[in-house]
Amino acid sequence: NEDQFKKVISHAKEYGYVFQSSEIYDGLSAVYDYAQNGVELKKNIRDYWWKAMVQMHDNIVGIDAAIFMHPTTWKASGHVDAFSDPLIDNKDSKKRYRADVLVEDYCAKIEAKIEKEVKKAEKRFGEAFNKEEFLSTNGRVLGYQEKIETILKRLGQSLEKEDLADVKALIEELGIACPVAGSKNWTDVKQFNLMFGTKLGASAESAMDLYLRPETAQGIFVNFLNVQKTGRMKIPFGIAQTGKAFRNEIVARQFIFRMREFEQMEMQFFIKPGTQKEWFDYWKETRLKWHKSLGLGADNYRFHDHEKLAHYADAATDIEFKFPFGFKELEGIHSRTDFDLKQHEEFSGKKLQYFDHEDKESYTPYVLETSIGLDRMFLAVFSNALVEEELENNTTRTVLKLPAVLAPTKAAILPLVKKDGLPEVAKKIVEDLKWDFNVTYDEKDAVGRRYRRQDANGTPFCITVDHDTLEDNSVTIRHRDTMEQKRVKIEDLKDIIKAEVDV
Ligand code: ATP
Repeated sequence: NEDQFKKVISHAKEYGYVFQSSEIYDGLSAVYDYAQNGVELKKNIRDYWWKAMVQMHDNIVGIDAAIFMHPTTWKASGHVDAFSDPLIDNKDSKKRYRADVLVEDYCAKIEAKIEKEVKKAEKRFGEAFNKEEFLSTNGRVLGYQEKIETILKRLGQSLEKEDLADVKALIEELGIACPVAGSKNWTDVKQFNLMFGTKLGASAESAMDLYLRPETAQGIFVNFLNVQKTGRMKIPFGIAQTGKAFRNEIVARQFIFRMREFEQMEMQFFIKPGTQKEWFDYWKETRLKWHKSLGLGADNYRFHDHEKLAHYADAATDIEFKFPFGFKELEGIHSRTDFDLKQHEEFSGKKLQYFDHEDKESYTPYVLETSIGLDRMFLAVFSNALVEEELENNTTRTVLKLPAVLAPTKAAILPLVKKDGLPEVAKKIVEDLKWDFNVTYDEKDAVGRRYRRQDANGTPFCITVDHDTLEDNSVTIRHRDTMEQKRVKIEDLKDIIKAEVDV
């Protein structure tokens, strides 16, 4: 909900995870900077993905292609002609909207109303409440449902170009959310291209129009044959890449969920034509397993299979995650056929074919793509981790329950007091552990406050050095989530931490 989301955003700033870009100049819309902790969390998510995709698959290799690409790339890929969103302006409020999002939000509002009715009835009827029956008999709820069905029927699953006039009519007819109540003063819906343009070269005559890449995938497609030949790759094989992408989003909202500069983690899997269905299923399952392995809760994921498909796809699904503002796309899995390679063959005049030594034939491979936004994954992990717990003594504690493998700092080493040689012992532990983990030293404030600070920071372990340590070479290790404390030998610390943070 909205309150929880506000807490997420302010916690991200307060604990050095995410700052607004150029904040001293009042920020830049939908552009963010990762701070000292955020950069570590982001790196750990990227590494976790890379390990699962590249290190653990002997038929997947990585590349790091340039952000700038030859401008013809984007003609071939279809982005120059078709990478746009439907835009609509309200002439009274002078506000700009994405027409499809406006309608989507409207549907979400109706859904929220249904949910509210359900909750109310549940409270009233208690044990006797039957949700199915309620949904199918309650007049008000049926009215809401009918409204959503009408909208979906008129527009299909997503909004396509030919629907634009229809969308405008619908926005007016429904009096959809607009700061000027009941306003019908809308412009027509226009298609707005999302690519950022720039120029390469110094002199005006020789300068070349370029685009900042709106996705990393094309860097993989144009390198397909280079990698296949130099890596002696046999189909099926994959190429993975992480890197920045840029989109001039019409309306940027929801913090780092939709940014104008963001990072993608993509993998293109090259396969034999005809095998796309089995690979689509394989990657759906494999990617969902990866998400679930982080322990954010199995109920927080769902597939959203696309009914209307993009021109390049013969099957597509999203893995949606339950963000504080509802289920939204986190990752896309697309069966892209041979569309991209064929387009690049046509526009470059170069063959991008694979020779199958066993079958003695050449063909243009099909492609199965998995594409996830690193920033969106960050938001999923971070928002899921932030909890406020009621403790037994009627106080609350704020804990960032990040999966240990992703936490920026794995352990904080705390001398109980700032004297009697305890800081020296604690610093020695830091020196030993920092070869293996990101650890931190903290001696300021009472130890209880230091525990709370590390809880809110997401640090899975606190290790306290006290006077007994000087006698028995043992320390107290405290677990962030359970707050359980154990006495352990200093020499065992490395293995104890490793057991939790290694994957
Ligand atoms: P959406 O429908 O949310 O705009 P999309 O379908 O355009 O996303 P893709 O082009 O399939 O997204 O990109 C793959 C992934 O990249 C998405 O699943 C998402 O995680 C991420 N992504 C796309 N656009 C953005 C953005 N503006 N900011 C952050 N992440 C993004």
